[in-house]
Amino acid sequence: MKSANKRVAVIGAGISGLTAALRLQQRGADVTLYEGSNHAGGVIRSEQRDGFLLEHGPDCFVSNKPAGLALCAELGIEPELISTNDAHRRSFILYKGKLEPLPQGFFLLAPTTIEALRGASILSLAGKIRLARELFIPPRKESGDESLASFVERRLGREALDRIAQPIVAGIYTADPARLSVQATFPQFLEMERKHGSILRALRHNAKQRGEESKAAGPRYGIFVSFKRGMQTLIDALRAKLTGVDLQLNTRVTGLHLKGERWQLDSSAERGARSAESPKTPDPGPRTPDFDAVVLALPAHAAAKLLSPVAAELATELAAIPYANSAVVNFAFKREQIKHALDGMGFVVPAIENRNIVGCSFSSVKFAGRAPEGFALMRVFMGGALQPEIAQWDDNRVRDAALAELREVVGARGEPVFATISRHRGSMAQYEVGHLERVARIESLTGKLPGLALAGNGFTGIGIPDCIRVATDAAKALRA
Ligand SMILES: Cc1cc2nc3c(=O)[nH]c(=O)nc-3n(C[C@H](O)[C@H](O)[C@H](O)COP(=O)(O)OP(=O)(O)OC[C@H]3O[C@@H](n4cnc5c(N)ncnc54)[C@H](O)[C@@H]3O)c2cc1C
Repeated sequence: MKSANKRVAVIGAGISGLTAALRLQQRGADVTLYEGSNHAGGVIRSEQRDGFLLEHGPDCFVSNKPAGLALCAELGIEPELISTNDAHRRSFILYKGKLEPLPQGFFLLAPTTIEALRGASILSLAGKIRLARELFIPPRKESGDESLASFVERRLGREALDRIAQPIVAGIYTADPARLSVQATFPQFLEMERKHGSILRALRHNAKQRGEESKAAGPRYGIFVSFKRGMQTLIDALRAKLTGVDLQLNTRVTGLHLKGERWQLDSSAERGARSAESPKTPDPGPRTPDFDAVVLALPAHAAAKLLSPVAAELATELAAIPYANSAVVNFAFKREQIKHALDGMGFVVPAIENRNIVGCSFSSVKFAGRAPEGFALMRVFMGGALQPEIAQWDDNRVRDAALAELREVVGARGEPVFATISRHRGSMAQYEVGHLERVARIESLTGKLPGLALAGNGFTGIGIPDCIRVATDAAKALRA
């Protein structure tokens, strides 16, 4: 922005909108933050119930992308951070109906050592031999984007795709690997292929280097971190910092107008207020004050809807980014109701297992303070691109389907102490093949509109640290 005290509207008060509002406040802007629901935080929401700490959305974030931990330090909530339980850092994968440990020494899709490959109980001998042949497969000649499924099958084989890559990717991106862009999601593997000619060779090389580094200084946190009192800590701390921001909850923005270089909004709250005041007078049109700039911190489809009367081409590009639905089901059990040893953080489920769930966190093992002594908290994740049908299921069906899987997979017995269901409709962006080219077009079209910036998980990262980074950059972009 050219000078201080510009008026800026931020739309959407998830982690992206809260971060953008903070950055704009820090630059002296006069910020109004509009949120359609009755709470800030978007999909991030924790709840205390009968001694359990439930996460209705994300339950952690990665510590190796700096924007997350840096914001925690800035907000003074670093002392609240906790790492995953040291004693049980492994995870499981469902293999022919049984939980097998995710192979030690694998880096996401592939083993870092031959020993890791040998010990992988979720691959057949033929699958292991095919995977090892990766060392001799020449790099792809074409430089364009490729689906993750094509990349993994080409280099590591079909079994590695079905048994390892697909469930891991579903756990992170809730995506269909046949459509997921490898460029947008795992560019490091493309780089490994390009630089070393083989993923296995590159991983071996990197593991050796990391070994040297960790001898020098071990990391302070594990890869996944959360807060003693849950992810809500981050949202509450951000809200507390927004002392100069006018946060308007229950206020859905329903229209955007660009008049010259100034923006006006229609909002549900104003419509409601107007019709309550004078029900017979026709709607006089937008009444919000003018804004110098607008940050749309929304899923891309929601931003598209608002932008379509203002910038049709940009709206079409945004609307073309698909989003998946998901549901989180928290089950509270007495510990003795679960047969499994719960000696890990949880499990993921390959699609070829034909189950109704994508995965499950053993929440009370994964992080301290999630369940009272003698109880277990199990957090089941459902939906995503490969299970679109759950959006049509009612809550009873979702709960029963999740519980039936826990009965079979971890030997859950009897009725849970309680269960909660949280639905997330259209919240998970799917980065499909060609995504990065689309994002470049979106950036170029956005740059043509005065005082417009986009944030959210639709562009260059879906995780919380990515959303924080993107929102910070969006606020910065308004400087010009
Ligand atoms: C179930 C689930 C689990 C996840 N797990 C993890 C995890 O463990 N770790 C991790 O790093 N990431 C995780 N993610 C991803 C990450 O949580 C999200 O990408 C991120 O929180 C998105 O934040 P956001 O602010 O961009 O969007 P949202 O949180 O979707 O917020 C957008 C906000 O905009 C509001 N809004 C929409 N339209 C309007 C409008 N017209 N007017 C006003 N307000 C509007 C919505 O009500 C909402 O509050 C998970 C996501 C989901 C759904």
